[in-house]
Amino acid sequence: MLCGDIPHSINRQQKGLDLTINLDQLISLRHWLHAHPELSRQEVETAKYLRSFLTETAQPDDIISLDGSGFAAVYNGKAPGKTVLLRCELDALPIHEINDIPYGSTQDGVGHKCGHDGHMAIMAGVAQTLTDRPAYGRVILLFQPDEETGTGARNCCLHEAFASIAPDYVFALHNLPGFPAGQVICKPDTFASQVKYAAIKMTGKEAHSAQPETGISPSFALAELTLMARKIQAKHDREDAYALVVPVYNQMGVQASGVCPAQGEVQFTLRSALAQTVETMWKELTDHTHTLADEYGLSVTLETREEFAATTNHQVGFDIIKRAACETKREFNAIKQPFRWGEDFGELTKRYTGAMFGLGAGLNRPDLHNPDYDFPDEILNDGIAMMVEIATIATKP
Ligand SMILES: [Zn+2]
Ligand SMILES: [Zn+2]
Repeated sequence: MLCGDIPHSINRQQKGLDLTINLDQLISLRHWLHAHPELSRQEVETAKYLRSFLTETAQPDDIISLDGSGFAAVYNGKAPGKTVLLRCELDALPIHEINDIPYGSTQDGVGHKCGHDGHMAIMAGVAQTLTDRPAYGRVILLFQPDEETGTGARNCCLHEAFASIAPDYVFALHNLPGFPAGQVICKPDTFASQVKYAAIKMTGKEAHSAQPETGISPSFALAELTLMARKIQAKHDREDAYALVVPVYNQMGVQASGVCPAQGEVQFTLRSALAQTVETMWKELTDHTHTLADEYGLSVTLETREEFAATTNHQVGFDIIKRAACETKREFNAIKQPFRWGEDFGELTKRYTGAMFGLGAGLNRPDLHNPDYDFPDEILNDGIAMMVEIATIATKP
């Protein structure tokens, strides 16, 4: 079968590649990272450990320091070609691990529950295959901080040292429990959703609850606003491009019978397959907020807390991933709907040509961000093989 003509499903056989990696060493690395998780913006030891691991086992030509603990390992090719950036993430989550495993988290309340420990080990494995240097171009391995807060990718791109990287292509993967182990999951256009997390605060004037008419309470305005979220969602939700406006938190007043509140807030998460839809829904929500505030005599504060740009796969990036899956004989699953979670790799696909794919982590596994999730070591080889093949294809001049 020729890989130019790729069926959507390929039998998963003969998938072992003759890669010059030390899998036992990479598994040990993954376990060390798993045992020492660090939250976003605090990935100091993780970065330090990875830098010395790479220097000792994979000799990059250069290591470029980027935003926070982020850095990029550079491998210069033997002949001119394209610059290909492959990304992994450094951060863990504020989730207490409940697994009983020998390499369990040593940090109370912090766990690698998104499998970023596995992504880092995959990238270290890719580095080990590059010690003889790529045939063409340059391969940049980006070890990015702060993915879970949606800030790391953007800050790395904006860092002055990033200008010297200037990638022609960017690629990333995410492990996906619920899909067969080693399966490659991808689609063109939106792969992961546009997400906005924002707080709307309303302030009036306190009063005795026996005389609420003498104060200005935000209670009814906040209630009306919360109900409005459903209408806005219903207006924009489409079969081919979903939309969500989800109230995730609210707070108002103090716990005292005699006090009619002066302030309160409601927080929303807005999601859609289309970036523009999130912006439109947010505008409608805030327009309605101002109308309510005028009606009730309240003041308003709007605060965007997190924002994930939609990860939009370019057709050429999707084609390279599909071809890499075929060349490495991995099962390829062309999904139709984008994932509803956000991924800050969208900041990279917004600026550069590229794509992201999912790597199946097994059907019977806990979901990502669950307290019992643990990245399966059995898919390390799949991730390494895919990333190496992608780099080989995309660096060609
Ligand atoms: Zn995550
Ligand atoms: Zn993640």
